[in-house]
Amino acid sequence: EYNEGGYLALEIGRILDNRYQVVRKLGWGVFSTVWMCWDMETGEFVALKIVKDLECDRVIALGEVAMLRSIQERGTEEDVGKSTIVSLRNSFSLPGENGVHVCMVFDVLGKNLLSLVDYEGNKGIHLKNVKSIIKQVLEALSFLHEKCHVVHTDLKPENVFLCVDSDYVRKLALDVVERVWSGQPLATSMVCAGSRRVDSGLRCRLRLLKKVVEGGWSGGDRGGWGRSLEWARLRDSVARGPRSLRVKLGDFGNAVPVGYDYKCTIQTEPYRAPEVILGAGFGCSADIWSVACLAFELATGTVLFEPTKSQSATRPENHLACIMQVCGPVPYGLRLRGRHTFRYFTKFGTLKHLGKVKKIGLKQILVNECGFRKKSAGEFSDFLQAMLNVDPAKRPTATQCLRHPWLAGQRYNYRATPLDEE
Ligand code: ADP
Ligand code: MG
Repeated sequence: EYNEGGYLALEIGRILDNRYQVVRKLGWGVFSTVWMCWDMETGEFVALKIVKDLECDRVIALGEVAMLRSIQERGTEEDVGKSTIVSLRNSFSLPGENGVHVCMVFDVLGKNLLSLVDYEGNKGIHLKNVKSIIKQVLEALSFLHEKCHVVHTDLKPENVFLCVDSDYVRKLALDVVERVWSGQPLATSMVCAGSRRVDSGLRCRLRLLKKVVEGGWSGGDRGGWGRSLEWARLRDSVARGPRSLRVKLGDFGNAVPVGYDYKCTIQTEPYRAPEVILGAGFGCSADIWSVACLAFELATGTVLFEPTKSQSATRPENHLACIMQVCGPVPYGLRLRGRHTFRYFTKFGTLKHLGKVKKIGLKQILVNECGFRKKSAGEFSDFLQAMLNVDPAKRPTATQCLRHPWLAGQRYNYRATPLDEE
């Protein structure tokens, strides 16, 4: 998939832009690979996102760079919300086979929120952790919406990242160094396909890096680092009790200015707001809808709206039915504005293939299907129900959500160590 698909094939130890030495791969997405690099200018580790060199991907990436830059110019470092948004440290481009690879430099982050939730067991994380994460996401959105006038449009667990501490990051590099010097092949997850072999050339290229990661490591307790790599353990402890988790909102590849007349369908399906399904335009309130879906998912380990295609109806129509079940009918005004309304609704306001939908309500779902106690379900559903108002104009803003009693009194400190003992 490298080269052909437009990804840049990289070998470990290579130096990019005269400054960043490639240490290992961190992950990949549909349009990029992400590499941990050692910034030789600052002596820090960074995450380098290298976008495919195909024309369409390059255009999107340049949009993301411009968006991140403009966000960075707003507000000050004191804005809590701003510090919860990934910051672009630098950007440059590299020549590729089909065109140019746009490269973006970020801080190294940990896994995304998907890794915290036990979806198989339908087990959510401790409610205190849900509150602290949702609070941080809302702070980021309050800054993004109100100070930057930007809609994220793709809020979902994959795009909220856990922060990690510098020991964790150094351990990632040490892992590579140890393999290279003990002659073990590199792990597939660390490299491009087919380049796991370790030779003396590689040792030579990583000489300086070896000094840095071994020299900079102060403690004698290797166990501490080993532990911090065990995401499975983190997941267990986050389910059990409160932890100080720090998160950052990322992936601004789809973000748009408020009021931008955007004809494409935004958002990933389960997190898609009803006005988007109906093609009725959208604003910041579309992000608020997704936050509610995210909160429900973190707390229950189940996706709130998971539309499927059925014999009688299409996915969007089934999606609308699920929404109406939890949130009530779609108001006339919204149906009137929707460019696609005619596909799903009769002129009487019932669904074309599914007819009338009975409302169940969120509290009942939390109690009956997710094992919540009545009191806790009541408080949580009260918080969610406002954000899940089918009428986007009636949804609270991020700042208003932050004042809701469900979040009030929510305290957390900003330590970024995912796995130190409680
Ligand atoms: P795409 O836009 O191509 O989907 P993403 O930005 O989602 O790319 O990144 C792809 C993957 O790379 C992520 O799922 C994550 O595993 C990893 N990743 C991205 N950014 C970072 C980062 N700053 N630190 C560590 N890993 C990252
Ligand atoms: Mg992605």
